Amino acid sequence: MEKVVIIGSGCAGWTAALYTARAQLNPLLITGVMPGGLLTTTSIVENFPGFPEGVDGTDLMMRMQKQAEHFGAKTRFGSVVEAVDLSKRPFTLTVDGEKLQTQCLIIATGAGHKHLDVVGEHELEKKGVTYCATCDGALPMFRNQPVVVVGGGDSACEEATYLTRFASEVYLIHRRDTLRASKVMAERALSNPKIKPVWDSAVTEVLDLQQGKVTGVKLKNLKTNAERVLPCAGVFVAIGHVPNTQLFKGVIDMNEGGYIHRKQGSETNVQGVFVAGDCSDHVYRQAITAAGMGCAAAIDAERYLGNLNQ
Ligand code: NAP
Repeated sequence: MEKVVIIGSGCAGWTAALYTARAQLNPLLITGVMPGGLLTTTSIVENFPGFPEGVDGTDLMMRMQKQAEHFGAKTRFGSVVEAVDLSKRPFTLTVDGEKLQTQCLIIATGAGHKHLDVVGEHELEKKGVTYCATCDGALPMFRNQPVVVVGGGDSACEEATYLTRFASEVYLIHRRDTLRASKVMAERALSNPKIKPVWDSAVTEVLDLQQGKVTGVKLKNLKTNAERVLPCAGVFVAIGHVPNTQLFKGVIDMNEGGYIHRKQGSETNVQGVFVAGDCSDHVYRQAITAAGMGCAAAIDAERYLGNLNQ
């Protein structure tokens, strides 16, 4: 029987593990299939306090893990939670076919990449369509070739800027005529001579299914309805995220987008189940806010367990 199980190994999960470990609750953290979470798909993180020169996303996550484990957090790598029974305490989780019980649960499952859902996108994934410039940008298939980045947020600007190291030109396709990205990221992208913004436009199809690789995208101008084909070797989709909360549907209250509702602090509608990070936050979605929420969930869990044992 565990006292605390944490699902998810992003900033929220590791911070919850650090705090619950220091509270001597001997937490078990289940990493999920993407240890370190989405931050491991970014390059330099420049906005995490304490790192004036910036810090590599993967490095930051490994440091968090090391710190939590130093205080006694247990890690279960690569495991997937297949089912949860939160109808009675202790809660039961099915992990890799095995059942384990816990007195309390912290959900820190983060978010995954949003898809365009156009013809060719899924079929040509890994054949030119990707969701992570830092993971795939340096691949030979993109070197000295034109590529497109879809989106207008910080991710799209960051990815476009990064891709200028490898691609001959980077088309930044955005559905409006102003970027959502923060000023500093937007200016950095738009001032780069290799980045060519394509405003008011949507990708309606990724080409070419017959050739089995990306050769271009079909674009539609949303103001004029004009359509054209833009030749490119890669499509980097950076249009935001969807919370990883399917496992809890029908049990834990969430909004229409699947983000888990927080009641007071990090409490969910099920007593003893707490939530932290991007799976419950569609507003801030920062490494530092996720870490703060992980800390809050750990403190709430500690208080909850303290009250149970009184
Ligand atoms: P985001 O801020 O939600 O931006 C998503 C972008 O994709 C928006 O421009 C949106 O258009 C567009 N979009 C959404 N759905 C679309 C669709 N179906 N088709 C076409 N375009 C679509 O997401 P994000 O850029 O991933 O950023 C998420 C959070 O992480 C933000 O808080 C951001 O500041 C942070 N972040 C920080 C850094 C950094 O500081 N290093 C790097 C990356 C991300 P509209 O603008 O029209 O809505």
